[in-house]
Amino acid sequence: MSGSTIIPWVVGNWKMNPMQANTQQLVQQFKQLLQQEAISAQDCHIGVAPTTLTLSTVQTQLADAVTPIVTVAQDVSRIAGTGAYTGEVSAELLKDSGIEFVLIGHSERREIFGDSPAILIEKMKNALVAGLTVIYCVGETLAQREAGQAEQVVLQQICDVAAIVNGDQWQNIIIAYEPIWAIGTGKTASPADAQAMHAHIREGLLQITPAGKDLAILYGGSVKPENAEELAACPDINGALVGGASLDAASFYKIAQAFAKTK
Ligand code: PEP
Repeated sequence: MSGSTIIPWVVGNWKMNPMQANTQQLVQQFKQLLQQEAISAQDCHIGVAPTTLTLSTVQTQLADAVTPIVTVAQDVSRIAGTGAYTGEVSAELLKDSGIEFVLIGHSERREIFGDSPAILIEKMKNALVAGLTVIYCVGETLAQREAGQAEQVVLQQICDVAAIVNGDQWQNIIIAYEPIWAIGTGKTASPADAQAMHAHIREGLLQITPAGKDLAILYGGSVKPENAEELAACPDINGALVGGASLDAASFYKIAQAFAKTK
């Protein structure tokens, strides 16, 4: 089915980058590009996910951008509230700092930091209860794709957390499909393969909740200006989660423009 009435999202995941000076420069350059030619929030929502250290600074710097840009946390603690949990940042602390969005389940968190389904359920629950909007990442490995298990793996990742999401909370969820083999590798899923998976995710969501028809499903995995238009033209691809290319203001801007124009 077509998700074309959904306003697309283009979100830059800066991961463990960049250093302070470059962060400021990146934000400045992006704001200047928007000043030259604004992207309407009616055509595309834009977000950036800096490190926890620079979340508040970036949010302040972005406050006067001509197009609203939301600041997204890259992760959240599985512990709620406040307390003696060294190194952790809870959903409530994010919310208290004015952060409204968070990535959960990025494959780097799953693979390098051991975010299991049980942990992701706790993170998801805390984020939703605190009133954050969650960009929930799913995606299969190359081995799973080659074994014909991609769709099953991705739907299972959604089902892992779906049980704790209640009716109204679905409107605070965005799905990001990121095939692991395409992240940071320069290999992108073909638009046809990505569209097929997105349509499958849409069907799966509709079996879980009627809200599934309105959820944005983003594609992530080596999105760049050169492939953004083709991906944006796919009816069930409602935006992009962009890693490497989001560290270059001009590239990120072009990707956002591509999604804004196509929808
Ligand atoms: C990501 O890590 O979310 C991502 C999609 O990275 P890249 O665009 O660099 O593949």
